[in-house]
Amino acid sequence: MKKHIFNPGPCKLPEPVLENTANAVRELNQSGMSVMEVSHRGKDFEAVMEDAMSLLKELLDVPRGYSVLFLGGGASLQFAMIPMNFLKTKAAYLHTGTWAGNAIREAKVFGQVDVLASSEDKNFTYVPKGYRIPEDADYFHITTNNTIFGTEMLTDPDSPVPLIADMSSDILSRPVDVSKYAMIYGGAQKNMGPAGVTFIIIWDELLEKVADRPIPRILKYETHLSKGSMFNTPPVVNVYAVRETLLWVKNMGGVKEMEKLAKARADLLYKTIDESRMFVGTAVQEDRSRMNICFVMKPEYKELEPDFISYAAAKGIVGIKGHRSVGGFRASCYNALELQSVKLLADTMKEYEANKVK
Ligand SMILES: *Cc1c(COP(=O)(O)O)cnc(C)c1O
Repeated sequence: MKKHIFNPGPCKLPEPVLENTANAVRELNQSGMSVMEVSHRGKDFEAVMEDAMSLLKELLDVPRGYSVLFLGGGASLQFAMIPMNFLKTKAAYLHTGTWAGNAIREAKVFGQVDVLASSEDKNFTYVPKGYRIPEDADYFHITTNNTIFGTEMLTDPDSPVPLIADMSSDILSRPVDVSKYAMIYGGAQKNMGPAGVTFIIIWDELLEKVADRPIPRILKYETHLSKGSMFNTPPVVNVYAVRETLLWVKNMGGVKEMEKLAKARADLLYKTIDESRMFVGTAVQEDRSRMNICFVMKPEYKELEPDFISYAAAKGIVGIKGHRSVGGFRASCYNALELQSVKLLADTMKEYEANKVK
């Protein structure tokens, strides 16, 4: 039986994506070769890469003057590549969680980092507001969805300097005003496909702002842009699966439809949490993530947390254990997760509570 997958990442993928990718692994377009065996420079694979790039542009309504890249190295490599390429004197960062912290740490290798605001004082349960972005910063970096702590920025901020966003865990879950960003990037493994490929949407003019330091060729955006993401052999199977995932999003009605589904899943779970006498949410209401829903048991029931995980597992629900820095539970509800799985989790929470709370 297929599980109800609430994993934080890699995450659940749509059934047609798994099927079509499995078929392409066996044989790509009657070529007599697997997608793993064809030349990445041959017409069959080039079409896959071009399709993936144009689908991403179409789905996010990417304006002219932006390019798409699919690279290796994960979002974590971007934490280093961004400051290596664009931090000349100082960069501004918003500290909203573990991933934002990792991005800040890498940036410090290359220059001055102004952390404009941090929610570390309250274990990242909110997104800081009311900070001022310095006009002399080379760029401003944000993390739109904090996967571990379950907070999310649902509006695209205004920035007087190039805005760069890690959207690893909420890409394709809502329409985004790409024109407000100089760069959007992330690991594909939450909403866009399997692990092993990183998506980058980059404003072409950002390339004119490259820092004056020696940068290895493979770590320059320019290099990859000039080769259409084929400077070195791309992760072909992963790119294939990304293309399939993007097609699935399109066939489902695009990011507006994804947003409706994300709202429906999140509303149901948060309602269940808020009406519960046993469970309580950890993030402040106004900054709650639709993608990663974090909750714990109230102190008087706390010792039952591991038992609830087993109780849910018996119904095929997997991946709801919270990250160690928050504890309790985290239900990650990415694009491919069906509402029916969320209903099952909500019903399971109610049933468990009814058994235990007298
Ligand atoms: C998962 C995640 C990352 C890490 O991505 P890798 O591809 O594993 O490097 C970075 N940022 C956010 C917001 C994430 O959720």
